[in-house]
Amino acid sequence: MKVLVVGSGGREHAIIWKIAQSKKVSKIYCAPGNGGIKSLAECVDIKATDIEALADFAQNAQIDFTIVGMDDPLMLGIVDKFQERGLKIFGPTQKAALIEGSKAFSKDLMKKYNIPTAAYEVFDDSKAAIEYLKTQSFPIVVKADGLALGKGVLICNSFEEAKDAVFAIMEDKQFGEAGNKVVIEEFMEGQEVSILSFCDGNTIIPMVSAQDHKRALDNDQGLNTGGMGTFSPSRVYTKEINDYCMENIFKPTLDAMREEGRPFTGILFFGLMLTKDGVKVLEYNARFGDPEAQVVLPRLKGDLLEILEACVDQRLHEVKVEWEDNAAVCVVLASGGYPLSYEKGYPITGLEAFNDVEDIIIFHAGTAKKGDQIVTDGGRVLGVTGIAATLDEAIKTAYQGVEKIHFEKKHYRKDIGVK
Ligand code: AMP
Repeated sequence: MKVLVVGSGGREHAIIWKIAQSKKVSKIYCAPGNGGIKSLAECVDIKATDIEALADFAQNAQIDFTIVGMDDPLMLGIVDKFQERGLKIFGPTQKAALIEGSKAFSKDLMKKYNIPTAAYEVFDDSKAAIEYLKTQSFPIVVKADGLALGKGVLICNSFEEAKDAVFAIMEDKQFGEAGNKVVIEEFMEGQEVSILSFCDGNTIIPMVSAQDHKRALDNDQGLNTGGMGTFSPSRVYTKEINDYCMENIFKPTLDAMREEGRPFTGILFFGLMLTKDGVKVLEYNARFGDPEAQVVLPRLKGDLLEILEACVDQRLHEVKVEWEDNAAVCVVLASGGYPLSYEKGYPITGLEAFNDVEDIIIFHAGTAKKGDQIVTDGGRVLGVTGIAATLDEAIKTAYQGVEKIHFEKKHYRKDIGVK
């Protein structure tokens, strides 16, 4: 089979690394890809959001199966467009991707179907939002309704802060059209756990658990980022909690989407908060998490492509998804200054040390190839995944890898996995 993967981050590298092991795959393409993906796939210079051009390419190159890693093309309807043209593609339709694209939609869905989540109200008018805030206690959480690169969530410690947040989102349009509505939500405390799941519209199979570290600096200090590292499994997410989630969150969400005429096929990501009052849903994503994919996929036994095909063909119930009884830790190496401004184009050295190593995988995110040299090309540059029998050993393995890679202004957290 010829496979096309859409995206350019560490997540797409992890997907490609895994499907490259499939016996069914003859050739992999990636649009647009990055410096490291080039070693496994032919990179095609088409933007992930240029859906028409992607569909033309898939048709001309006779691609058998397309996998969408990123959120933007899903929201733009890439799956619908490919289906119209008779091209096989893995991911949710535009209607189903709304579960990530609108927080107001996802909160209303949870309320209607009794799926546990934080109490909330939705407003499309800033004055009404501020009147409501006057009746609330603090901290409280103010969220832009739409996609805002993970930055549209503001935790506000006072009425003044919350009022400023509503103004910034709805009047100053800091996140553009994503701020036409706001969700104001009860503040929750607890450990956050990420559960990714395979879905075919009817059947849902959760993957092994993961936890991420969103803040830029050690001890959860500094600004929020796209993710500075992840580990799998979580130390706190037990089988009992998973059973509870299956019955009260995972299956009910998939059933609700079908009931609403938006059957979900693809990867459904549950951002969960383990509060003292039980598990609650923080958010849904309509695709693999990044960097969650970099610790979950290396633990998957068997052929990822076969599972994704079964999702598209609605026969996931026939598939047995199995996992290694091990642990994985991914430490992100970022450009100094990320998530604010940073420089690009620095040569990366030390990568050749991992060519024949089994327990460390280097996933590229923001890299480019200049001649024979890999250089930095983004905020999050590389993900160094260590694999071992236990979490503590996997932490050691990952950091052994981190020490061997060098580039100017390399920044990483030293406490990944120690939650
Ligand atoms: P979201 O995009 O909705 O997942 O929000 C991004 C991050 O903000 C989450 O991963 C949490 O760390 C935090 N957050 C979101 N909603 C809440 C909440 N209701 N209470 C506490 N923290 C929250």
